[in-house]
Amino acid sequence: MIGSEGVRSDILERTMLALADVREPQAVVAAVVRLLEREAGRPCVALSPDDPRVHDRIEGVRSAGLWLTGDAVLLAAIVDGDVRVVFALERGEDPSESDLRLLRLVGTLASLALSNALAFDQLRQHAVEGAALAEAARTVLGFTELEPLASALSGLARRFFNAERSALYGRVGDELRALGSAALPMAPALPERLPLELDAIEALLGASQEPRRFALAPLRLPGHSDSERSGLLAVMRASPFEKGDHRLLDSLVTLAALAMRNVELYEQSSRANRALAESSAFKDDLMAMFAHDFRGPLTVISGFAELLLEEGLEGEQRAAAQTILAQSARLAKLSEDALALASTQSAGFSLSRKRADLVAFVGEAVRDANAGTARIEFTPCTKAPAVRFDASRLRHALENLLENALKYSSGPVEVRVYSDACEARIEVRDRGIGIPAAEIERVFTRFGRGSNARERRFSGTGVGLYIARKIVDVHGGRLTVASLEGEGSTFTIGLPLD
Ligand code: ADP
Repeated sequence: MIGSEGVRSDILERTMLALADVREPQAVVAAVVRLLEREAGRPCVALSPDDPRVHDRIEGVRSAGLWLTGDAVLLAAIVDGDVRVVFALERGEDPSESDLRLLRLVGTLASLALSNALAFDQLRQHAVEGAALAEAARTVLGFTELEPLASALSGLARRFFNAERSALYGRVGDELRALGSAALPMAPALPERLPLELDAIEALLGASQEPRRFALAPLRLPGHSDSERSGLLAVMRASPFEKGDHRLLDSLVTLAALAMRNVELYEQSSRANRALAESSAFKDDLMAMFAHDFRGPLTVISGFAELLLEEGLEGEQRAAAQTILAQSARLAKLSEDALALASTQSAGFSLSRKRADLVAFVGEAVRDANAGTARIEFTPCTKAPAVRFDASRLRHALENLLENALKYSSGPVEVRVYSDACEARIEVRDRGIGIPAAEIERVFTRFGRGSNARERRFSGTGVGLYIARKIVDVHGGRLTVASLEGEGSTFTIGLPLD
């Protein structure tokens, strides 16, 4: 190592080049050893700071960076203030001051390279952990039940830590119970139940399973107080757990807590949904029952009112009988809507569709609606379009449109049937109050009414259009409206051609 300044700076340059791209801590150490041997022409070994040959001199090496013993020059690679490796180079002839300076510089370069390599190693470790966690997240976050989740999580933990067995425990009362576990064949069992306290668990596992190692990570469910609900991920293997393992285990346990919380929320929401569906079905049944049972008495009431009118009642009495008839008809319509509403809500809402003459069907509905004062003009197309429909349901939808057109206008109402290449259309047009532009979609919702209809006190429930649209929808068609407030509305039922 003796030489001019130029030779010395060559040595430093070679040291830098030799260490520049080395990423493995072990490779850095090997490169430094090789370099020292080559440049000095004497043997060199790398020793751990715990090695008895250098242990007593570590403090000296740390503070001076270099130490001379009777037969060796000790050079330290220091990272974060700790001596990581001691390079012992055979001493040979007495080194000069400038040799020692040069060696110290080589030591500094070795320290830097080692520190870089360790940082790089850590990064790589983090990247591996990151990839493992991403995989774990993809796997476990979609579970909706606890047991399959527990098995999947245990499986991941077993694989990540190359363990013999791992198990996920959940708290039940005053103890932890295994929810799921994953194991290699012949792996020793873990207890089904564990106490809550970590110390007690460690004592229990340690006593029964020597010489195996355990990593235990307690988990707390977010949104629960610590004592209320928690669990534990236990991993068992033969080799010791290192710092990186514990880090990964902590992250895995956080993920497990999230996934368990997901399952819990899912359970809660499906319980709430079930309760809601039950109460809604009960309400629908009740409504259907009432609506159905209304019909009998209503038929009797309107029958008697008709009879009275036929008997030739006069004056106030006649007017009263007419009111009874009209109001019974209204009540009958309301109960029909209620029945239809209940049936559209039920899961089994279905149609019995048949091929029928749409023109004749609409003509008949118009005729019936015109009984009394005729205001509806019907324009049929010449050739009846080929469509299949449920006559009783579609009649209900059409009647709702006709009644609305008559109710919300005082002028004539026009009904047309026509078709194009793919659709048959029934159009109901009035020149009445129209619908405010911003409320067009709202009138098709359940109980949705236009503000102008409400302000002008038109009677109504807001279910007619909702039912009509449902009926048209299940036919595979669509019910639309074009309307201008104050000008009138055109409702169109479009049905797919058969
Ligand atoms: P209802 O007429 O019993 O209120 P519908 O569901 O049949 O219930 O209609 C919903 C709302 O749509 C009505 O309240 C009204 O505001 C509006 N609407 C329906 N048809 C017409 C129409 N032909 N002209 C103007 N507004 C209408």
